[in-house]
Amino acid sequence: MYKDWIKLENDCKLCLKCRLAEKRNNVVFGVGNTKSKVLFVGEGPGENEDLQGEPFVGRAGRLLDEMLNEFGFSRKKNIYIANIVKCRPPNNRDPLPEEQEKCIFWLREQFKLICPSIIVCLGRIAAAKMIKPDIKITKEHGTFFKKRNLIFMPTLHPAAILRNPNMKNEAISDFSKLKSYYEKIL
Ligand code: SF4
Repeated sequence: MYKDWIKLENDCKLCLKCRLAEKRNNVVFGVGNTKSKVLFVGEGPGENEDLQGEPFVGRAGRLLDEMLNEFGFSRKKNIYIANIVKCRPPNNRDPLPEEQEKCIFWLREQFKLICPSIIVCLGRIAAAKMIKPDIKITKEHGTFFKKRNLIFMPTLHPAAILRNPNMKNEAISDFSKLKSYYEKIL
């Protein structure tokens, strides 16, 4: 178990544990306040994220930031954002189960150092890995799940909202629930 964030980040950035290392430009370790009570988890980096080395920086990322800011959350201030896999899957395909299994080691280490009170899973892939494999994201988003004394909440992936803007109100409702929970644990 890591005790030092810098060492963890440096080691992760040298990782060659799976084939996603072969074509990456950057390992996308994560961004935000490492003392946050809220940890957001996505599935993996896309093209912009791979090029810039930061999660959620394309159009979907801007939408995520906009919704976060509406509720007083910011990656610069009071949340941390990371992914299940830290290197970009080719052509933005879903990360394979074996890639997720190898890479989740890094997320677990991040989790142990951050000690968040709630994990918000962005989209089906992250929610299936973190909460339960058969999650129905369109029905169960915004629900609070308790697992091993930790609270998880799945929500819609911002890329899915860009494809279907009608879903935005549902995501806003999830963020509103998150905000209420956050105010209770402050
Ligand atoms: S995706 Fe994860 S496990 Fe695979 S090489 Fe990148 S950091 Fe390592």
